[in-house]
Amino acid sequence: MNTRQLAERTRGPLYLPGTEGYDEQRLGFQLLEPHKPSVIVAVTGTQDVQAAVEFAAETRSPLAVQASGHGLAAPTEGVLINTRRMSGVRVDPQTRVACIEAGATWQQVIEAAAPHGLAPLSGSSPGVGAVSYTLGGGVGLLARRYGFAADHVRRIDLVTLDGRLHQVTADSDPDLFWGLRGGGGNFGVVTAMEIDLVPVARIYGGSLSFEVEQVPDVLEAWHRWTATMPDEMTSAVSTLTYPDLPMLPEPLRGRQVAQIAISYAGPQEDGRRLAQPLRSLGPILRDTLRELPYADSGTVFDEPDQPHAYRSRNVLVNDLGPRDLADLTKAAGPSAPVMTVVGVRHLGGALAREPRTPNAIGHRDATYAVWVLSPVQAGEQQVVRETHRAALAPFAGDALGCSLNFTFGPLSGDEIRSAFAPADYDRLVKLKTQYDPHGLLHANHSFPLAG
Ligand SMILES: Cc1cc2nc3c(=O)[nH]c(=O)nc-3n(C[C@H](O)[C@H](O)[C@H](O)COP(=O)(O)OP(=O)(O)OC[C@H]3O[C@@H](n4cnc5c(N)ncnc54)[C@H](O)[C@@H]3O)c2cc1C
Repeated sequence: MNTRQLAERTRGPLYLPGTEGYDEQRLGFQLLEPHKPSVIVAVTGTQDVQAAVEFAAETRSPLAVQASGHGLAAPTEGVLINTRRMSGVRVDPQTRVACIEAGATWQQVIEAAAPHGLAPLSGSSPGVGAVSYTLGGGVGLLARRYGFAADHVRRIDLVTLDGRLHQVTADSDPDLFWGLRGGGGNFGVVTAMEIDLVPVARIYGGSLSFEVEQVPDVLEAWHRWTATMPDEMTSAVSTLTYPDLPMLPEPLRGRQVAQIAISYAGPQEDGRRLAQPLRSLGPILRDTLRELPYADSGTVFDEPDQPHAYRSRNVLVNDLGPRDLADLTKAAGPSAPVMTVVGVRHLGGALAREPRTPNAIGHRDATYAVWVLSPVQAGEQQVVRETHRAALAPFAGDALGCSLNFTFGPLSGDEIRSAFAPADYDRLVKLKTQYDPHGLLHANHSFPLAG
């Protein structure tokens, strides 16, 4: 098959290098080292996906899939399937199930679920692709109450590298169903997914911001507070030093600020009472805690929504020492060599419990995810890498492994392995070898082939 024949088989358009729209189609949220494909297929349905996969298999071209492009780690020069046009969401309020197409963002799922008083297990940023997030596990705003998004998947429609469409369920193909939920996009191209929704219409949430100079131990205070919280409370802390720039509000310029973001899945009186110790930590720069519809949950973390270049790493741990948290705070301080944001997410609760149908997610027992992220300007890659290594070094001795979903940038084989229990990793490599025997599929973090 050549690209002309491929174009005849697809309803969605093809984009070749140098043609109009090529750049718009290949770029996603992550602008660092974007895909440079020899052909982009802007798929509109399963048949388009099958044609693109068969083309890649026949021409032995590397194949990558991009939804909203938040997680790009391994750019491709081969075939890129862009799923943005497949963004349909169907909600069945009776069974509390949503059928989501490959390119739907969480915002689209949230909007479809909200009129029924339901919510998906979405994350901090509603612009993230729901399918990609779920394939990688998915730690959301209701995570400690309900677990990983991948724990609540009923069916996955998958086109494998031989072009065949499978409706993968716990009964139809237990091994593949296990691996797809946590193993990422390593085994084929997902066209749609059936996921559970939860009966959450409103949460108590938002954030509290403090100046670190005034509350130097804010990370440790949050850490102590998390140990007293019920599963309904999911929270995180982060800190960064704002540049001293005139376009920023005066109170933030050149100052190190820490933000505690919370999401409480219960009555607002309880949420307010549980958050009270945080309000007492010191002078508050900004307080957005309130009861809010889940449809506004993107305001809780209030993350940047404009595409940019960034790198991020993380470690999963079971406990945090005050000294380590002080070092972590300093890593994002005014003396950081590049702009550095550090943070910790509170895990545990339902995340630690095995779902009814086990999946490939690693390190369920981890209690905290410690992460470091930097926007990357030209020529800064090396210094960013070194800064990130240094920031996470205090946690290396206690690290259980890392989370692939929260890693933005390439990882070594050992680092990818560290995301899973050893036996599970071997099982994932076996599945990869079975379903992608030529290693064509460039997943965000790809498993090697066995042997
Ligand atoms: C600002 C921000 C906030 C985030 N918040 C959270 C959070 O709260 N919780 C959390 O768990 N994660 C979070 N993440 C991580 C996010 O879940 C992953 O990076 C996810 O992979 C991004 O999905 P995407 O569609 O946006 O990215 P893309 O780059 O489009 O996709 C990422 C990867 O998913 C795979 N993939 C995508 N579509 C398919 C498909 N149809 N079939 C097979 N494989 C596919 C591919 O391997 C692809 O490289 C966040 C990331 C960012 C940048």
